[in-house]
Amino acid sequence: MSFSKDEVCSFQLDQQFKNLNFRDEFIIPKVNGEEAVYFCGNSLGLQSKKSKVYINEALDKWENQAVEGHFTEPDPWMYYHKQFANTSAKLIGALTEEVVIMNTLTVNLHLLLVSFYRPTKKRFKILMEGGAFPSDQYAIESQINFHAYRGEDKLFNPNEAIIEIFPENNEENLKTDAIIECINKNKDELALVMMGGVNYYTGQFYDLEKITHAAHQVGAIAGFDLAHAAGNIPLKLHNWQVDFAVWCTYKYLNSGPGGPAGAFIHNKYANATLPRFAGWWGHDEKERFKMQKGFKPMYGAESWQVSNAPIFSMVNLKASLEIFEKAGIENLRKKSIALTQYLEYLIDQINIEKNKQIIKIITPHNAEERGCQLSLVIYGYGKKLFNRISENGVICDWREPDVIRVAPVPLYNTFADVYKFYTILKSCL
Ligand SMILES: *Cc1c(COP(=O)(O)O)cnc(C)c1O
Repeated sequence: MSFSKDEVCSFQLDQQFKNLNFRDEFIIPKVNGEEAVYFCGNSLGLQSKKSKVYINEALDKWENQAVEGHFTEPDPWMYYHKQFANTSAKLIGALTEEVVIMNTLTVNLHLLLVSFYRPTKKRFKILMEGGAFPSDQYAIESQINFHAYRGEDKLFNPNEAIIEIFPENNEENLKTDAIIECINKNKDELALVMMGGVNYYTGQFYDLEKITHAAHQVGAIAGFDLAHAAGNIPLKLHNWQVDFAVWCTYKYLNSGPGGPAGAFIHNKYANATLPRFAGWWGHDEKERFKMQKGFKPMYGAESWQVSNAPIFSMVNLKASLEIFEKAGIENLRKKSIALTQYLEYLIDQINIEKNKQIIKIITPHNAEERGCQLSLVIYGYGKKLFNRISENGVICDWREPDVIRVAPVPLYNTFADVYKFYTILKSCL
C-alpha cells in the first residue's frame, strides 16, 4: 500500500474500508470533551452499545424467571456458554467442540497445565519466551513447583525446568529458527512449549504452526496463550495441530473487565481421558442434574468446565461477538494490516522530518509477524511524552521500562484516528 502524510489520505482510506467501520456500535471514551484516540483495545476493548441492552435483558430474566431461568427461554443459562463456541471457533480456526468459554485466562491456563503438563523425571522442561506476561510466568513456575514432588520424592529440580528464550543480542524479536533450535537442543527433556501467540510487550506474532510442529517432533506438547492474538489475527489452531490454548475476551473481544476467557483443546483429545480438575459443569449434561457420584466428561472442550457460567459477564461477549460475526475476522485483518501500516508510515515520517530516529518501533515490520499493535521506544522522552499525549486525547499504554504500546483496532478505530495520533504525537515532541 502507498500512503501520503496529507490528511486526505486518511479520508480516502476510511472510504475504502467503510464497510468495515463498526465504530458506531461502540461507545468511544472522551478526553477534554472530545472523542479520544483510543489505541488501548489490546488492553481493554470498548463497550459495545448493545452491552447495556443485554445486561438489562439478563437482569429482567433473573427478575421474572428466577431459578427457572436455567432452563426456560430465552437463552437458558444452562446452555448459555454454547452460543459462543461457533464464533470463537472461527476466530481461532477450531472446530466448535474444541472451544469453550469459561472462567478467566489464568485459571484456564492452570486447568490446562494440569492436563497437559505431565512431567516425568526425565522429561520435565517447559520452554517459554523470555519476558512473558507475568501471570503466565507465575502460573508456570507454580505448576512446576507443584509437580516437582510426588509425595516425598523430588522428581526434578524446579530451577532447571524453565527454559526462557530471549532474542539475540541487539535484537528485539525472536527468530523462529532460534526457537526451533532451542526445542531441538532440549529434545529429550522438553515436556511442553508454552508461549504467547503475540507477545504483549513487543507485539511480535510467533509462527505457531512451525513451533507446534517442532515441539511434536521431539515428543513435546505445544500450548499457547492467545490473549493478544484472539480477535486480532485469524488463526488456524486445529490445522496447525496445536494441543491447547487459552485467551481472554476483554482485550480484542470487548467483553469488559474480568470478562470470561476461552480454552481450546484439540479434538485429538476429545475422547482421551486426560487428568483434569473436574466440576459438575464438565459432567455429561444429560445426567448433570441426577447429582450422582462418578465424573462422566462431556465430549470435547466443554468437559473442562468446572462451574456454571457467569451470565452477567458473558452478555457483553455476546454483544461483541455478534459484531465479529457480521464483520468476519479475515476482513477485519485486511483493514487491520492497512491501519497499522499507515500508523507505521506516519511514525517514520516523524523520524524523517526530525532528521534522526527519535521513535523506534520494536514490533516486527513484516505484517505477517505482528497484529495491530506497535510498540514504540521514544528516545529521550519516555514517560513524560506518554503523559503529554494522554493529556492531549490519546488513550494508549505505557509498559515499563520504556515502551508505549499503541493498537489501532479495526472494529472501531479509523484511519482518521491514526492521523490524529500522528499530529498529537508530533506536537508533543
Ligand atoms: C492480559 C493477559 C493476561 C491476564 O490474565 P487474566 O487471568 O485475564 O487476569 C495473562 N496473560 C497474558 C499473555 C495477557 O496478555
